[in-house]
Amino acid sequence: MTDALISPFAAGLRCVCPRCGEGALYAGFLKVAPSCESCGLDLKFADSGDGPAVFVIFAVAPLVIILAFIVENLFHPAPWMHLVLWIPAVIIFSLLLLRPFKAVMIALQYQRQAGAA
Ligand SMILES: [Zn+2]
Repeated sequence: MTDALISPFAAGLRCVCPRCGEGALYAGFLKVAPSCESCGLDLKFADSGDGPAVFVIFAVAPLVIILAFIVENLFHPAPWMHLVLWIPAVIIFSLLLLRPFKAVMIALQYQRQAGAA
């Protein structure tokens, strides 16, 4: 059984199929492909729901808060500068992390056979 050879985190961070680790997981920005183009794994089981968004919030919020504290202590910028800096930062960090976080959750679902009962 080769399933255990691919770490769900390695497959997820690369946004590839959780079984073979080669085929692309996504057919769009966040749209999961119907099946793996490499091994043919049916990806219809994949339903990560709101899970990835929650973990993205838990990752991005502390990161941006810490960066804002550092910038405030080093440069004392005007309050509007914080808005100009951190609103786009939150959007960019969230969009960057959403794909790999969703892929990791789908890979964990596959590895743990969640929903297979
Ligand atoms: Zn595959």
